[in-house]
Amino acid sequence: MKHIRNFCIIAHIDHGKSTLADRLLDYTGSVTEREKKEQLLDSMDLERERGITIKSHAIQMEYTYKGEQYILNLIDTPGHVDFSYEVSRSIAACEGALLIVDAAQSIQAQTISNLYLALENDLEIIPVLNKVDLPSANPEEVTDDIVDLLGCKPEDVIHASGKTGFGVDNILAAIIERIPAPTGNPDEPLQALIFDSVYNPFRGVETYFRVLNGTIKKGQNIKFIATGKTYFADEIGTLKLKQFPRQEIKAGDVGYVITGIKEAKEVKVGDTLTDAKNPTTNVIEGFEDVKPMVFAGIYPVDTEDYEELRASMEKLQLNDASLVFTPESSAALGFGFRCGFLGMLHMEIIQERLEREFDMTVITTVPNVSYHAFTKKYPETPIIVNNPSDLPDPSGLDRVEEPYIKATIITKADFVGNVMSLCIEKRGMITNQTYLTTERVEMTFDMPLAEIVFDFYDRLKTVSKGYASFDYHPIGMKPSKLVRVDILLNSQPVDALSALIHADNAHSIGKKMCEKLKELIPRQQFDIPIQAAIGAKIIARETIKALRKDVTAKCYGGDISRKRKLLEKQKKGKKRMRQVGNVEIPQQAFMAVLKLN
Ligand code: GDP
Ligand code: MG
Repeated sequence: MKHIRNFCIIAHIDHGKSTLADRLLDYTGSVTEREKKEQLLDSMDLERERGITIKSHAIQMEYTYKGEQYILNLIDTPGHVDFSYEVSRSIAACEGALLIVDAAQSIQAQTISNLYLALENDLEIIPVLNKVDLPSANPEEVTDDIVDLLGCKPEDVIHASGKTGFGVDNILAAIIERIPAPTGNPDEPLQALIFDSVYNPFRGVETYFRVLNGTIKKGQNIKFIATGKTYFADEIGTLKLKQFPRQEIKAGDVGYVITGIKEAKEVKVGDTLTDAKNPTTNVIEGFEDVKPMVFAGIYPVDTEDYEELRASMEKLQLNDASLVFTPESSAALGFGFRCGFLGMLHMEIIQERLEREFDMTVITTVPNVSYHAFTKKYPETPIIVNNPSDLPDPSGLDRVEEPYIKATIITKADFVGNVMSLCIEKRGMITNQTYLTTERVEMTFDMPLAEIVFDFYDRLKTVSKGYASFDYHPIGMKPSKLVRVDILLNSQPVDALSALIHADNAHSIGKKMCEKLKELIPRQQFDIPIQAAIGAKIIARETIKALRKDVTAKCYGGDISRKRKLLEKQKKGKKRMRQVGNVEIPQQAFMAVLKLN
């Protein structure tokens, strides 16, 4: 055990975590030439394209240092707030962390939030100043920032470049010298922390764990404490780029187990794995069921594809346990599903995977957070509102609560005023403001989660000219004044366009929605009135004027191929249109409320 080191890499997104992980694998000879693809750890196509790590993975390296051989377990963590719970579990499986800071960008919001997580878990922190090869790098200044943040010495900060490989030897030496070896007793009852799981269509779910105490053996009956279920350990082993089956894995080490589990949701990240016959009494603390934060309807563009959509969603759920869905129906869109996501990025990923992996074209409706509504009749029992149509009638409504977050924003001193105005506009309350340096300020706000869902990232980027980073975590429910704004087209309410909006903003948003829909809905042979309403009260109105002539008319007698092109273009545009009554509504219209300015 004294030759094992378990560590993770934490960083703000794009500071070079994946690149540096690849360099560590190269340097320790953990990959063969053939396996050397760029960003090895990001194995999903989508991850590689977006340059983000969605799921965390673990990998074992061997390294000889001062004549002794060490096993280094690198536990990779996802870099986006939507997946922050997985970051916290990966961190809990380690004794140390490399804290990567971009030498040009310095400390950002996720640097700090991940650092706090690591400190809460008593991890040894090794600060790494990365990208020192960049011409725009500012090594002295950023080192000072790191020293201020950690209270370490400047010489503790390792200068490195994931691009050139500079400093990688020093990082490996620091991992061995500074990170404590794991402790734990291999003879106690099995106690292992599940920090990740991966769905494999052929082998079922592979569960990744860190053994804290005891020994896990091939053929053992193992129990998952959160689900109470027992399985036979068909195969256990350690992970390099491939799996290496083993007979046993002892306290201190990291590995995988395959048990024939067929669904991702049977394995919960953060759960404790133990021996079925001789279970541990020591359950690992802090287990949390991951809860979806954002809800939206997903409908097939073609109503006939409903069953196929269901089958596709079920398959997706097999390998993404954080996706939840229940059937729902809409007068406008027919049959579909109300889906719960970890955040907006997760929602986009699911939509994209439906299209790429299952060839489904879907319409997504306006996302909303999950509200609690209390009626006058039952003022103590919350009604969970995941869908605008679930909001009880205003006459019987006692109160509504909405989820709040603590938002941390780091920006340059010049932009403090802009960031402040934006957050106040988004119903935020400032709770703290600290100058990290004379140039850089950390601000924290209590804000409604709903306001983050709606165009917050883009606005933050704009008002700070790109110099603001952002991170958040939920802090519970608070009272809210909520109304449902309905949209009527041709005097017919279109339920799929309804949105839950804070009462103070309802009028202005209702008006903007009408204007936006006017832009997005194609003109037709007749006038189309667009109205926004709260209950029976109309709060805004626009009209889409009738089309005067056939769009192809101007091509008559002219170029026939041009006419065909135009028709084809129309047909393509139709792909994501929905006929509601006698009005055609394009997909963007269902998301219009997200793009108001
Ligand atoms: P992650 O989001 O933290 O995993 O960051 P990545 O490893 O994906 O890197 C983000 C971007 O920075 C990519 O375009 C990398 O090629 C680039 N990058 C990473 N490390 C270095 C480095 O040391 N020097 C330079 N110049 N670029 C780097
Ligand atoms: Mg990455």
